Amino acid sequence: MSKVYMQDGRLVVPDCVTVPFIEGDGVGAEITPVCQQIVNEAVKQAYSGKRSIEWKEVLAGGKAFEQTGEWLPEATMDAFREYLIGIKGPLTTPVGGGIRSLNVALRQTLDLYVCLRPVRWFRGVVSPVKEPEKVDMHIFRENTEDIYAGIEWEQGTPEAKKFYAFLRDEMGVKKVRFPETSSFGVKPVSVEGTKRLVRAAILYALQHKLPSVTLVHKGNIMKFTEGGFKRWGYEVAETEFADRTFTMNQYNQLKKDSGEASAKAALTDAVNAGKVIIKDCIADAFLQNTLLIPKEYSVVATLNLNGDYISDQLAAMVGGIGIAPGANINYLTGHAIFEATHGTAPDIAGKNVVNPCSLLLSSVMMLEYLGWKEAAVLITNALEKLFGAGVATADLARFMPAGKALGTKEFGQRVVESL
Ligand code: NAD
Repeated sequence: MSKVYMQDGRLVVPDCVTVPFIEGDGVGAEITPVCQQIVNEAVKQAYSGKRSIEWKEVLAGGKAFEQTGEWLPEATMDAFREYLIGIKGPLTTPVGGGIRSLNVALRQTLDLYVCLRPVRWFRGVVSPVKEPEKVDMHIFRENTEDIYAGIEWEQGTPEAKKFYAFLRDEMGVKKVRFPETSSFGVKPVSVEGTKRLVRAAILYALQHKLPSVTLVHKGNIMKFTEGGFKRWGYEVAETEFADRTFTMNQYNQLKKDSGEASAKAALTDAVNAGKVIIKDCIADAFLQNTLLIPKEYSVVATLNLNGDYISDQLAAMVGGIGIAPGANINYLTGHAIFEATHGTAPDIAGKNVVNPCSLLLSSVMMLEYLGWKEAAVLITNALEKLFGAGVATADLARFMPAGKALGTKEFGQRVVESL
């Protein structure tokens, strides 16, 4: 039996796991084999050959289109459905096809409602901030709702006119500044969508013994969508995790009822008792704070669009997209796709210079998800050693004072040797 499956809400992982993988377009053909070699070796060393991964190639993107005439064949979706987990290299966005984005199609089909992006700094990697070691965050970006739902109409079309007429005539909306030339988009944010995301973030904080979850929103302006996210997020903590969390809502209520000293004492007690502190921050202030006081933040739960901006800013603070990992997860069904977060990098494809670490650290996330922590640690320790000694691919090595730039394959080989 080589399939991962869910039983009573828990993932059951056999010793030999089949992992469907999409090689990826552009640089995908260079990073995928390098990562697989490293992961195979780490698993072999960590479990003395008792555990292993059987890689099963499935097609998507340009390679799929060439071979099957389809960008995302049904057989690929079936494999992800069947094996629960999978990993993918970057995919070309089809131009003019029926699919807007292959990544979005994958997320929607499997209802992968969490986009998880852990962000940490590796000693040796040059960062634009003074104290990158203070950046250690885990972003839970909602993946199925918000303005990303793809409900929009282009200006000048009959649909945009009809939508505006509905707004004006049925809803009494008078605030559209230039109605004749406006495009329109709809931003759905639901109670269920918010609560399952925030629930996952709190559970993750509890499991990993992390100190806080920050709900990042723009609820001061968008009161029912982003404001709803904040309210429903606090509600999850206060109703479902009452004994394991302490919220800033509760802090403020105590402060009002019994004074600041009582509120502060309750907060200190909660921290000492190992409770997860649930707080919130307005998105623009949050982006500023990540630069000024990054240590204040640990797990971050946010909506789709905010999450997009936040992920890239935080990635830039610790070394850029070449080393930023990510995963799309449905914690209820167990489905998870781990992915390189960068694109196909056509400008450097085929030159053996691409950094494989985004996909490699996503593979580390996959090992952690499977519960194979020992193998995951071997790889992160190897990367710490190499970056600390200035050994990296050109994108990182060129900024390191004593940087030694290696090709993709050569860097991969050094990781294997350093395990
Ligand atoms: P990109 O991420 O491919 O490249 C942006 C820049 O970063 C390029 O200069 C590239 O050389 C560099 N870069 C990216 N990854 C790197 C790595 N691992 N090591 C070293 N340098 C790296 O973004 P783009 O050029 O805007 O997009 C190219 C294609 O990729 C487009 O078709 C786009 O739609 C697609 N794309 C796919 C994904 C995905 O599959 N997750 C994400 C973003 C873009």
